[in-house]
Amino acid sequence: MQIKFFEFNPVFVRTYVLFDETKEAAIIDCGAYTDEEQQRLKKFIDTNELKVKYLLNTHLHFDHILGNQFIYKTYGLKPQYHEMEELMPGLRKQTVVFGLPIDYEPVGAEHYIEDGDIISFGNIRLKALLTPGHSPGSLSFYSEENDCVFTGDVLFHHDIGRTDLWGGSEETLISSIQNKLLPLPENTEIYPGHGPSTTVKEEKQHNPKIKIIQ
Ligand SMILES: [Zn+2]
Ligand SMILES: [Zn+2]
Repeated sequence: MQIKFFEFNPVFVRTYVLFDETKEAAIIDCGAYTDEEQQRLKKFIDTNELKVKYLLNTHLHFDHILGNQFIYKTYGLKPQYHEMEELMPGLRKQTVVFGLPIDYEPVGAEHYIEDGDIISFGNIRLKALLTPGHSPGSLSFYSEENDCVFTGDVLFHHDIGRTDLWGGSEETLISSIQNKLLPLPENTEIYPGHGPSTTVKEEKQHNPKIKIIQ
C-alpha cells in the first residue's frame, strides 16, 4: 500500500490518499479547503491515474471535511463515517464557532460505517475501529496487512485528542485508546489527523497522557 499525505487548511489536517498497484484508492479526511489545495489533491490523483473508490471520514469536525464537497462534485463520492457523528452540529455551525464561516452544508453519507466493518479497495483492507471520545463516533482505520492505523484526532504523536468539543469525553477517549489502539501490534504505525506519524510502541512508552492513565 502506498500512503500519500497532504496538510490542508488553516489547522493543518492530514489528508491521506491510500492506493496500491491496482490504482484503486481511498481518501481519508479530505481537508482541502482552498482552490489551490483542492487542485493539488486532484493533480496527484490524476497524475497517478487513481480511481478513488471511497471518501472516509474519521470524524466530522470541520477541519476534516472541508474538502468533502469538492470530492463529491469531482468524483461523485459521498463520505462514509459513523452515524454517531451526526449528533454534532454541521459544517456551517462549526465553522461559525471557529471563525471560518462556510455558507453551505456538505453532502452527507448514504452509507454509515460501523465498528468492525471492512473497507476494501484494490488489495487493501481497512478495518474500522470505533474509537469515540474526541467526538461521538470517531473511527480509526486499521490495516493489519500494512501494519498501520489512521487515528484521526484520537491519538497523536505524544498526545491525545481534545475532549472539550461537541460530545467529547475524556473518559471515553482514554478507554478507546486503551481498548482499541494500544492492543494493536507494537510496530503498528500510527498516522494521525494532525502532526507526525508515530508507533503504538512509541506511544505506549512516551505518550505522557497514556502513562498517566496506565
Ligand atoms: Zn477533531
Ligand atoms: Zn482535527
